[in-house]
Amino acid sequence: MKITAVETYVCHARMRNWIFVKVLTDQPGLFGWGEATLEWHTRGVVGAVEDLAPLLIGEDPTRVEHLWQMMWRQHFWHGSGVTRSTAIAGIDLALWDIIGKTHGVPCHKLWGGPVRDSIRLYCHLGGGNLESFYETPVDNANQFADLARQAVAEGFTAFKSMAVPPTMPIEGLKPIKAAEACVAAMRDAVGDDIDIMVDCHARPSPAMGMQFAKALDPYGLYFLEEPCWPESVESLAAINAAVTTPIATGERLTHLAAFRDMFAARGCEISQLDLTHCGGFTEARRIAALADAYRIALAPHNPQGPVSTAASLEFGFSQPSYIICESVHNDVPWREDVVEEGFTIDLQTRTVGPNAKPGLGITINEEEVKKHPFEQEVPQRVFYQDGAAGDW
Ligand SMILES: [Mg+2]
Repeated sequence: MKITAVETYVCHARMRNWIFVKVLTDQPGLFGWGEATLEWHTRGVVGAVEDLAPLLIGEDPTRVEHLWQMMWRQHFWHGSGVTRSTAIAGIDLALWDIIGKTHGVPCHKLWGGPVRDSIRLYCHLGGGNLESFYETPVDNANQFADLARQAVAEGFTAFKSMAVPPTMPIEGLKPIKAAEACVAAMRDAVGDDIDIMVDCHARPSPAMGMQFAKALDPYGLYFLEEPCWPESVESLAAINAAVTTPIATGERLTHLAAFRDMFAARGCEISQLDLTHCGGFTEARRIAALADAYRIALAPHNPQGPVSTAASLEFGFSQPSYIICESVHNDVPWREDVVEEGFTIDLQTRTVGPNAKPGLGITINEEEVKKHPFEQEVPQRVFYQDGAAGDW
């Protein structure tokens, strides 16, 4: 069996362009789907896939580890930059899809699964609607509470919010109190049986991240995400040590050695590796093994498109330390038109049973994808009150 082509299909979904990667073979009807979505880097990732394709054409797609090593090592520059690691991931996921189809089993069975009966999903406030999640003002705690009630009404037992505003490296009490009011309102709205997460989006400096973490600690968050830049490993470790709330991070780490440094410093209790950014299943399985050695949990970052979700779930059915899967269902109204999924979601509990179809179990409707050609993503930019650029 040989790879004959590597193609990309771009599907504009407002905040993101989903980039689907299709690896074709010389076996009639046998191909694999992956996803390499990277918001505001669409042209770069599509180009990176084109740059990698000559390494793959004519090769046996079932030698996935060998092909991964070639993609990582054989263009001199290691594949650790996010554009290339995302391109590698998209191709790697498609190769595993092919292997699953070749053997007639879901990907998780290739790795000894399923290790659990179901996977719990969590949503963003607003279900992935850009305005609800990213643009609900933190001085409107009531709106946070309303959106929290709505998530629970839709069956979710866990949800994530953006209750921490952008802040300059040092600010006073106002943003801290605003974040605390939002979290208090959500907790009041949904009670103690629902798990609440706050994503700081790495907006705070280490000093501000520490203040937010301590202020929110009494509310029993399921996790606090990216309380400062992922490059500030020692500061993440200090925050993680200072509060009982588990710290989560990892969506911007793209390779095993970066996770090694984060785990060794105990910068987090939850690894949010992204299957579409950290080199696909091949590298993610190594990262998961390393996380196990530190007893660090896995909760993949997954706000992208439907192939990313299928991959995150296949991974979860093979990994004992996996706790929950991020999901969006309300980013674009036609999301389900683009894909037929092998798994089913219980809408009462927002839990997912194992996919029974081969590979990732998905069918992408290429005609539907063509209805949503590339458009520049909706910009999301932050400037502080004095006009200086900030972190979104
Ligand atoms: Mg995040």
